[in-house]
Amino acid sequence: MKSNLGVQRNSREHVRASHLETEIRVVIPEYLWKKLLAYTRLVSTEINGYGTVEIRGSAIHVTDIFILKQAVSSTRAHIDGEDLAMWLDHFSRSGGEAESVCLQWHSHGMMPVFWSGVDDANIVNLLTLPPLLVSLEVNHAGDCLCRVDVSRPLPLHVTVKPTIELAGLSPAEVAQLGEEVASLVSTGVLSLTPRRSHMRASLPSYFLIDQIGGIDEG
Ligand SMILES: [Zn+2]
Repeated sequence: MKSNLGVQRNSREHVRASHLETEIRVVIPEYLWKKLLAYTRLVSTEINGYGTVEIRGSAIHVTDIFILKQAVSSTRAHIDGEDLAMWLDHFSRSGGEAESVCLQWHSHGMMPVFWSGVDDANIVNLLTLPPLLVSLEVNHAGDCLCRVDVSRPLPLHVTVKPTIELAGLSPAEVAQLGEEVASLVSTGVLSLTPRRSHMRASLPSYFLIDQIGGIDEG
């Protein structure tokens, strides 16, 4: 009896999730999609960050993507909770709306994208703050997974194929993102100088810009 009820509940949740999947859109301006890919491809390791969104009707529009100071490896990327709290405090004091910071993203580097147990746990932890969380997972190839989680009135998540709005990203802007990555992203294994040399060796600027320019079909 108990297990039948469980099956019934799961079945209803599945139906509800399927319905929501057709209603909810996550819209990423091309500039921000390219910015996300640039961050991803400027390191050979994982990297993560946050973003802001604005809800218009049933569409969630991504309004910014950014990184914070973090430590990374080939399989992990970690932002200290205190650094995040300080950044949010500064963001609010500068006129930003803390409630809009409900997007988190991370890269799997050159590995395939999939929601790992660590990813699921991170989402549960982050959902203790905002009632809604948009999660993006990308890799160097431009593969992208997106899910939208809500914590109230019941925990629920739907998978969404993001809509990319077309725009542009200049080489100067990519160079600026490269400087930001170099100053904020550190690894415990390699010192900054060899890492930058490695980045230049593996991702020359023309490769990076050409690849980002041709990612629309992703
Ligand atoms: Zn992941």
